[in-house]
Amino acid sequence: MLETETVAIIGAGLAGHAAAEALRTEGFTGRVIIFGEEPQRPYDRPPLSKEFLKGEWEEERLYYRSTSAYDEQKIELRLNVRVEGIDTDKHLVFIANSEPVYYDHLLLAVGGYPKRLPIPGGELPGIYYLRTLADAAGIGNLLQPGAKLLVVGAGFIGCEVAAAARARETHVTVLEALSLPMANAFGAEIGEFFAAEHRARGVDLRLGEGVSEFIGRDHVEGVVSAHGNTFDCAAVVVGVGIAPAVELLKGTPIQVDNGILVDEYCRTNVPNVYAAGDVANWWHPNLMRRIRVEHWDNAAKQGEVAARNMLGRNEVYSPVPYFWSDQFDLKLQLFGHLPKNESVEFVMRGSYEERAFNLFYHVERRIVAAVSVNRFKEARAAVKLIASGVEVDPAQLADASVNIQALAKSLIAANKTQEAGAREM
Ligand SMILES: Cc1cc2nc3c(=O)[nH]c(=O)nc-3n(C[C@H](O)[C@H](O)[C@H](O)COP(=O)(O)OP(=O)(O)OC[C@H]3O[C@@H](n4cnc5c(N)ncnc54)[C@H](O)[C@@H]3O)c2cc1C
Repeated sequence: MLETETVAIIGAGLAGHAAAEALRTEGFTGRVIIFGEEPQRPYDRPPLSKEFLKGEWEEERLYYRSTSAYDEQKIELRLNVRVEGIDTDKHLVFIANSEPVYYDHLLLAVGGYPKRLPIPGGELPGIYYLRTLADAAGIGNLLQPGAKLLVVGAGFIGCEVAAAARARETHVTVLEALSLPMANAFGAEIGEFFAAEHRARGVDLRLGEGVSEFIGRDHVEGVVSAHGNTFDCAAVVVGVGIAPAVELLKGTPIQVDNGILVDEYCRTNVPNVYAAGDVANWWHPNLMRRIRVEHWDNAAKQGEVAARNMLGRNEVYSPVPYFWSDQFDLKLQLFGHLPKNESVEFVMRGSYEERAFNLFYHVERRIVAAVSVNRFKEARAAVKLIASGVEVDPAQLADASVNIQALAKSLIAANKTQEAGAREM
């Protein structure tokens, strides 16, 4: 790419930030401009439902870089600026009350917005959603000792908000339509373990309770569940997932289907237009299907790969997905992807009683996902087994005396020798 070229990045979140810095690290000397509709420079979202919500971190700690660090890297931040439209033929992005901006390469790193609950009372004051720093600051004010909070949804955001609320001695009821917490990402083992942990810490966790109505006159005062039960509260936090922010692409030829469709090089169907992060629905060459991942590690890495591919590196993006969640004194981590089918089996290292364990999930002896609760090292070591797809004896995974790193090394080496032998025949 030439010094005279411009890379425009829409979205001043993690993927946009990571892409901009990767362009500079890789030696791109042209113009880099990030448009962000939030007023703040890029900041870290995970602490919003953890340290920041518990009042342990100040706002300043959330930012990836100082303003001057962006200046030094000649990364232009145009904050509080919403991109209203794109003309992919003329290579222009449109913003209100300003001249359109020309780009040579465009990265769509627009993330997603919390899904709203379209039910009666849904517009009452006192109902919060958590995505931004402003949202977290508003929710933080609610977490007072003795206050009554109701959380809708026991996904990881809802569970983290409940844990933060308990840390601040707020009464919290969680209503979840499914039969277990975090059931979309994890199996019954993790769901049951975390349900018990939440209840032991005083969370009033109601499973199988969908929400049908918010009630209150001028402010939310309660929630009616689909079973007709009423729960009183002073405020509500809804955490029922996000919808990818694709409305900007209406009228453009960029293909959208549960996010922006990109290939394994982060390219959309339109030349010079890329997408990364929560909004990208990408082709994973190892999984042989599309996935859209709403996690930190993916946003950071995919942003960087998109940037390098703009520079012509032709880098295939095929990571083992990684995700973590902190609730109480428990760190939950997932490497890989847990398919929802009956042929998945698992073995365990450690125990629920110790509150430190691994679960290794496998399909026909090929490990697809490794979970850690307060037991990081062994799950991390399993990443190579997941990426390589080699066969492994589940009993060895369960045996705490077996070093998984060494096991992975020997199995992968043996597999390579076998493959080389087969090629020579
Ligand atoms: C409270 C919370 C806790 C989390 N905790 C964890 C965790 O523990 N572990 C984990 O793995 N992940 C966690 N995540 C997820 C992780 O933070 C996200 O995956 C990551 O931030 C996604 O980055 P992104 O850049 O793709 O999108 P975003 O961070 O959403 O950034 C996109 C930005 O684009 C802006 N934008 C959108 N449209 C436009 C437009 N038209 N013009 C200009 N700007 C626009 C948005 O306002 C936003 O600022 C958490 C997320 C939240 C909200």
